[in-house]
Amino acid sequence: MDETRALVVGAGMAGMSCALRLQEAGVDYRIVSDTFGGRVDYSPDEKVNFGAYFVMANYANATKILRRETWINPFACCFHQDDGAAYPTISGHTLKRGGRFAQFGALMVRFMRHNGNYKRNCERIPQREAMALDPYIARLFRQPASEWVREHRLDSVAADYVSKFTYACTGVSLERLTALDALTVCQGLLLPIHRFSFDEPAMTRRLGPHLIRDRVDSLRTVDGRHVATCASGAELAADLIVLATPAVETQRLLELPAIRDTCELYVFHVKATLKPAFAAHAMNLFPFASPVVLTALQDDGSFLVYTREPDADLGQVCESWELIGSKAWRNAMYVTGSAYLEQQYGPTLYTAGDHNGLGLEPAAISGIYAANQVIRAAGRLPSPVAPRERDLAHA
Ligand SMILES: Cc1cc2nc3c(=O)[nH]c(=O)nc-3n(C[C@H](O)[C@H](O)[C@H](O)COP(=O)(O)OP(=O)(O)OC[C@H]3O[C@@H](n4cnc5c(N)ncnc54)[C@H](O)[C@@H]3O)c2cc1C
Repeated sequence: MDETRALVVGAGMAGMSCALRLQEAGVDYRIVSDTFGGRVDYSPDEKVNFGAYFVMANYANATKILRRETWINPFACCFHQDDGAAYPTISGHTLKRGGRFAQFGALMVRFMRHNGNYKRNCERIPQREAMALDPYIARLFRQPASEWVREHRLDSVAADYVSKFTYACTGVSLERLTALDALTVCQGLLLPIHRFSFDEPAMTRRLGPHLIRDRVDSLRTVDGRHVATCASGAELAADLIVLATPAVETQRLLELPAIRDTCELYVFHVKATLKPAFAAHAMNLFPFASPVVLTALQDDGSFLVYTREPDADLGQVCESWELIGSKAWRNAMYVTGSAYLEQQYGPTLYTAGDHNGLGLEPAAISGIYAANQVIRAAGRLPSPVAPRERDLAHA
């Protein structure tokens, strides 16, 4: 059995952030995962992201792992209506709604101030406590985005722009999205956003022998230690454990009750000729009535087409197309409901991930928070017995 002080399960943004922090602090750890990157699914050959697509300017932690690439020009986007009408980001249509946009901008500035403090707090205290410190954020966590829109009389701005941007990012309507997730995503309407690349070989080298490619099938405790049984049959024992697995998997491993509902997204990478209505725009964003969610032009002239149904007809947006690659995300993001996932279960088991807060940056922060707890707990535990001493003691 492989023994370690701390075991991180899952090498997505949360797990990698956690592992790097443990490494910095000199904690003896392993990170075990069946995929590397998780919902960061960058193809170095095609230079496209099949999972998370962009990082925002305020992603200070996620960009320690991801590298910013092409700027996504908001003025090259086109917002399409149910009735076939369409308008670019800045148009007569936008200007007519100037007052409401100014109000939305002011509300976003207020949100970003609260959210900045909230994120900083989340590095050192549980999200639950950070929300208790800021009832404004706690309320957004529980409130459906559609209700927030009505409360602020932003229906016209929401119908034309906000709902399409949040739909493009999540594949769900404002009714299914919480206000916290919607506003988190909408920061991308105000802040610079960039596509990114993920250098998997470089990260593999950084994690070195700590990284184990395997899948944890089950967990048990033996004499107060956590023992993970992997798909390969290997067993890993640790004093402290961080489950940086997607919440559906954390729920399975810990037999937890309700978690938030997920959305589905399907990503198609195509060489295509878009229909004339869409061809002039680097990004086309659609209303919820459309199963196609988004088209996004890539640097080499190919497109990513996102849909919310696996068999959506790409003929809706493409005149002709050739499929280069695709990816199905049945549990893409946790966006519906307000079930909260604790970040600690018992004195030595922690969770991390994007369950209570959507996106790469909240996931990274949750991983750093878990690592900080592990570092503190490791300091309180008796020093591990060196293998040689232990063998002699048993002799
Ligand atoms: C299509 C799509 C587009 C998105 N776009 C954006 C975007 O533009 N910007 C943004 O900020 N966010 C975006 N997101 C959300 C973002 O990707 C996630 O919030 C974030 O990546 C979650 O990271 P995580 O570490 O919590 O989980 P994950 O990335 O899912 O990582 C979990 C890890 O655990 C591993 N694992 C699971 N089960 C086990 C097991 N039993 N044993 C061992 N390992 C296991 C997995 O293989 C994976 O490596 C997008 C998501 C999707 C799907």
